[in-house]
Amino acid sequence: TAGLMEGKRGLIMGLANDKSIAWGIAKACADAGAELALTYQGDAFRKRVVPLAEQLGVSQLADCDVTDEASMDALFEQLGDAWGSLDFVVHAIGFSDKNELRGRYVDTSRGNFSMSMDVSVYSFTSLCRRAEKLMTNGGSCLTLTYYGAEKVMPHYNVMGVAKAALEASVRYLAEDLGKNGIRVNGISAGPIKTLAASGIGDFRYILKWNELNSPLRRNVTIGDVGNSALYLLSDLGAGVTGEIHHVDAGYHAVGMKAVDAPDI
Ligand code: NAD
Repeated sequence: TAGLMEGKRGLIMGLANDKSIAWGIAKACADAGAELALTYQGDAFRKRVVPLAEQLGVSQLADCDVTDEASMDALFEQLGDAWGSLDFVVHAIGFSDKNELRGRYVDTSRGNFSMSMDVSVYSFTSLCRRAEKLMTNGGSCLTLTYYGAEKVMPHYNVMGVAKAALEASVRYLAEDLGKNGIRVNGISAGPIKTLAASGIGDFRYILKWNELNSPLRRNVTIGDVGNSALYLLSDLGAGVTGEIHHVDAGYHAVGMKAVDAPDI
């Protein structure tokens, strides 16, 4: 991939630590020659993110809370001043109260429903709207989603509903921004042990289930997601928009895994 992203500048949001999907994508982009801006959420993450940014020679690092319009405006002012234009953005952000990522979906509270939709769905729309202004030579926008948008998965609850809305947003945004040569896609990643995932009930069991039942008989890594992101963010994906691309070892394709059936 050396040189694939040479001359491209991109913003990656959602870096918490070196387990983050955002980290897998940032590394793949940096290895391919991209110049990066990274954001983190609040002081608590700064300590872990600064050394990671240094490792990739990142020039633009910012604290940004996606629910705060002023914070988003300040980020784009910084990027506008520093770079003047932008080629790609990655949205690797989601959040819900972990007390509601167990038990029944029907018990979701109004407050957590709104908050989960705001952080996990609206933020991508507001990111794309701001990015559009800087993507004067076209561009690529990417978000992260999960199979719980399509089918009921244990404990995913309100996040499944949020991811369904996020995937619908990808299609509407692709139509809106396509006229300006801007592509909008999502990667539906298989389960990966990250900070966000640790809030989901029985996550270890879900990982094991995916490992045993996916066609590749393994779980995916942030490296796998990073490499697939590279295809969608670079000119290799020039003809692709409005797409949800599964990077899940094939899990989504299987209705029922073949087994040696007992006599019945
Ligand atoms: P992570 O915890 O490393 O990343 C989540 C990020 O969201 C963190 O950096 C956090 O700071 C950020 N965030 C939350 N609220 C924010 C706010 N208000 N403002 C700014 N940032 C905020 O976990 P991850 O698994 O790498 O998650 C990245 C994305 O991938 C999420 O959208 C998640 O739903 C999605 N995803 C994860 C998996 C998985 O199994 N880990 C599978 C499919 C999709």
